[in-house]
Amino acid sequence: MASSIKTRSARLFRSSAGIRKRAHDAKPRQSTLERAQQQMIRFTRSKANHSDAMVKSSDPATEPNSSLDDDSESHPPAGLGLLDLPQELREMVYAHFPGVAVIPINQDPATFLQPAISKTSRLIREEALNVFYSRKRFFLDLRGWKSSAYPSTWTPRRIFNEWVKAIGTSNATRIKHLGFFSHNFTANIQISTQKPPTLILKFRTLSHSKEVAEGIGAAYNFAIAARRAEQGLRLLLDKIEPQLDKNGGINVADMKKICRAIELIQPFLCTRPSLGWAGTTIPRDDMRMEDWPCAKPHVRNCGECGYLHMKSL
Ligand SMILES: [Zn+2]
Repeated sequence: MASSIKTRSARLFRSSAGIRKRAHDAKPRQSTLERAQQQMIRFTRSKANHSDAMVKSSDPATEPNSSLDDDSESHPPAGLGLLDLPQELREMVYAHFPGVAVIPINQDPATFLQPAISKTSRLIREEALNVFYSRKRFFLDLRGWKSSAYPSTWTPRRIFNEWVKAIGTSNATRIKHLGFFSHNFTANIQISTQKPPTLILKFRTLSHSKEVAEGIGAAYNFAIAARRAEQGLRLLLDKIEPQLDKNGGINVADMKKICRAIELIQPFLCTRPSLGWAGTTIPRDDMRMEDWPCAKPHVRNCGECGYLHMKSL
């Protein structure tokens, strides 16, 4: 049972049905430009021989929700298609799918699938996926909430890893924005487009002036813990950065390492009392993450860090 759910989730990451539903939901807010762009896409898709077969094979149950095919209003002039537009304009069209800039990975995978337009031809697929993965901001909520579409035992990191595996290295290297947030911190990582690329870290804390370690004394507080956590993450990114140019961007293995590191930070910044604080005290600024103390006693007992509420689903 679990493996069939897993296979289904992996397949859903690449399906097109959800995007089509989203396009339908967003229709009342469409501008004239967006409507014109959608008409252009409809026209192009109607000319693509195998387009319909590929899209319909994704999930027939969602067909009634489609707004891309059920509207037989006026079409652009005959002979004019998406590929007749300059690439810059085509990219403007791609950027509208899906119509959101930030994509939460914990949501039902049907809400952040590769756009249906990427199924029309090889060239359009390359261009559309390039825009999709490089311009959207993908982020993971580490607080434990997740869509019921995922198996109940999947932690946020497991969801992230399955998603990265499903999109593959070629798409992973296109990604330019990765974000993570927990109860009291956010970590945003931008992969710059300069040569050679760099990893820009924006680490923010959402809580302050709270003791992290009972018995450690006032000298060790949340601000110090946050600074050391950020420093640990920066040291990891510094190790990944020199490989970016050679690999063509950030790869699957690096993305998994980053997610693991950020999940590791979480208990060290947790502000719940009496749950093994001493084990979540980072003694020095310059410590590598692999040398940090063991936070397991805290994680085992803390619902925020251990996703305990997920196990009861
Ligand atoms: Zn905790």
